[in-house]
Amino acid sequence: MSVVPLLELQDHDTAIDRLVHRRATLPERAALESANARLAEIATRLAEATAARDEVAREERRLDDETRSLEEKAKAVETTMYSGTVNSPKELQAMQADIASLRKHRSDLEDNELEVIERREGLDAEVAAIVAEQTGVEADARGAIAVIANEEAKIDDELAAERTQREAVAQTIDPATLRLYESARVKARGIGAARLLGNQCQGCRLTIPSGEVDRARHAPAGTVTQCDNCGAILVVE
Ligand SMILES: [Zn+2]
Repeated sequence: MSVVPLLELQDHDTAIDRLVHRRATLPERAALESANARLAEIATRLAEATAARDEVAREERRLDDETRSLEEKAKAVETTMYSGTVNSPKELQAMQADIASLRKHRSDLEDNELEVIERREGLDAEVAAIVAEQTGVEADARGAIAVIANEEAKIDDELAAERTQREAVAQTIDPATLRLYESARVKARGIGAARLLGNQCQGCRLTIPSGEVDRARHAPAGTVTQCDNCGAILVVE
């Protein structure tokens, strides 16, 4: 850390800029973004698979209701047939044929239902696999959120400390120089003050014409010289 206030101020500002940049570009932010994108894609697939499964499950219930109702009808005819109230052999024969037809229909529907159950079970497994995938990615997202919160808290503490120190240094610099420094920082990508080392500006690493170097070195105390190239206030130590 320099004893020259302007350079000390620059050190704090550089540290603050780095912390702000680190905070904005935490790798977990990219991880969280990709997890969220995956979750959106998974949600679409899950909705599709669930809709397909529900449709087949409805078909399964419909077949189940129908087979049950056919069996009930067959039983009802059977009950009447064996009740002794019907004596006509022709009528009894017709009832028997009716029962056989109802049971044949029921049996066909049951075969059909078995296929539907198989399809529904396959879709259940698909839904379960997507839900498992979703749970995993949700855990990734939660992990990234936790790391981000933790990193942000650490960086914010460092930022607060740097800003406090920066303010203390800024208090010791006259307002006009401070304004010049701030405007140079805006123009020179964060560099408001730089050492003049030999005849090189340490802000932009460019060589300063020797006449100007001499002028800067022999200027009366309090004179502010700026680098012609980057605009940083040149500090002669
Ligand atoms: Zn420069």
